[in-house]
Amino acid sequence: MLRDSWSRPGDGSLSDDLDPQERGPQDECGVFGVWAPGEDVAKLTYFGLYALQHRGQEAAGIAVSNGRQILVYKDMGLVSQVFDETTLASLKGHLAIGHCRYSTTGASVWKNAQPTFRPTADGSIALGHNGNLINTHELVEMVAELPPASDELDIHARDLEASTNDTGLVTALLAHHPDTSLEQRALEVLPTLRGAFSMVWMNEDTLYAARDPQGIRPLVLGRLERGWVVASEDSALATIGASVVREVEPGELVVIDSEGLRSHHFAEPEPKGCVFEYVYLARPDATISGRSVHEARVEMGRRLAREFPVDADLVMPVPESGTPAAAGYAEESGIPFGQGFVKNAYVGRTFIQPSQSLRQLGIRLKLNALPHMIRGKKIVVVDDSIVRGNTQRAQVRMLREAGALEVHVRISSPPVKWPCFYGIDFATRAELIANGLDVDEIAASVGADSLGYISLEGMVEATGQPEDRLCKACFTGEYPIPLPDERLLGKHLLEASISSESLPVLNNP
Ligand code: SF4
Repeated sequence: MLRDSWSRPGDGSLSDDLDPQERGPQDECGVFGVWAPGEDVAKLTYFGLYALQHRGQEAAGIAVSNGRQILVYKDMGLVSQVFDETTLASLKGHLAIGHCRYSTTGASVWKNAQPTFRPTADGSIALGHNGNLINTHELVEMVAELPPASDELDIHARDLEASTNDTGLVTALLAHHPDTSLEQRALEVLPTLRGAFSMVWMNEDTLYAARDPQGIRPLVLGRLERGWVVASEDSALATIGASVVREVEPGELVVIDSEGLRSHHFAEPEPKGCVFEYVYLARPDATISGRSVHEARVEMGRRLAREFPVDADLVMPVPESGTPAAAGYAEESGIPFGQGFVKNAYVGRTFIQPSQSLRQLGIRLKLNALPHMIRGKKIVVVDDSIVRGNTQRAQVRMLREAGALEVHVRISSPPVKWPCFYGIDFATRAELIANGLDVDEIAASVGADSLGYISLEGMVEATGQPEDRLCKACFTGEYPIPLPDERLLGKHLLEASISSESLPVLNNP
């Protein structure tokens, strides 16, 4: 029987984690692709991934093609830890894709790092995926039903792609196109995928990008003077000097080769973009569906000030993700804005686990209070979300120890009560503090004098998007893409199934 393993806490690192014992929402992945003859595509991909590092910090990889073969280099760690000048110089070609990973399906181990790689009957493919599929169990069966490949390909596939993630399954399905083109095969496979996917993949001469019909995760198309780029966020385009052309549309497949760009619609668009991208996940300098993420966060703060005003002396953010909303709260309320916490700028950049005695210091490893800003004042502290509540409890305690007279916590998203199955790793339902307690009880639990969460309507309006075009499931429990049985969902579904031998191991290219 399949194990329900989505109850495991996140095991990635994120620069906004403040407490090693309590991670915030874990982002899913960043993807990047470039088709640009004459350019150093490996370096463009490196800097594109560098700009997307906040989306995944467990592993990074780049695949490059010179028109004859694809080379893949990937490893555990941050983009800057995985690649150096020598490695990048060895990745020569005109076409590349890149990926930085936080694991949503499949454990955080090397074999699950991306891009994935598979030989095909006429070459090979490499693929990177942002999001999370919810019909993994069906894809396992589809892969098992593929006809056996030649012995040579089969051995390669076993060696190269013994991965345990949904991306490995999609790679296997796409790679099987003995009698048709990869482009045609993609139009057959993409409609069978359920869940969130913004994907880039390539063979030796062509770059592909596709987005799920709901467009849950962002994906943008950009232009270089001598080529094309796709990336999870437009901030990555700006980083490499590419101009934004447009978003890849929900349900669209984009194909780029020497003949130019072709677009196919493999499904009717039903937009349900992730509202949490605006709250926390995307970079503040990103624009999603025409709305500046920074402006959306400032507006959430303004609305929070109108919904939950309080008499106070200072509005301060929990850095960095609470900063725009705190600025909006201060602007709307007229209460002075100031820094009350200083955060170590290199938070999340170490893989060294703190010793037990250091661990007891909790968030102090990453965040410190400024007593001269706080002492004798009534403080409003603004953050983007509360997951388990341990971080906020430690922050309130730190502010009181620094001499705060009163601590009022304001949160720029509604209470998180439900898990995400579309690519974000929150805590389990049982661990979410808002699942068991009401707002007053949460305020008492974290030790705040008062607590205010923005309303669902206020958050949605701040995004500038029509409510029916957003996913809000972690706040409402209404999942826009119907979920299968609970037992068929989970980060470690494939490891569980493989170890129990209830489902076949992937071995068909
Ligand atoms: S459940 Fe929440 S985090 Fe997940 S896609 Fe929907 S809005 Fe985003």
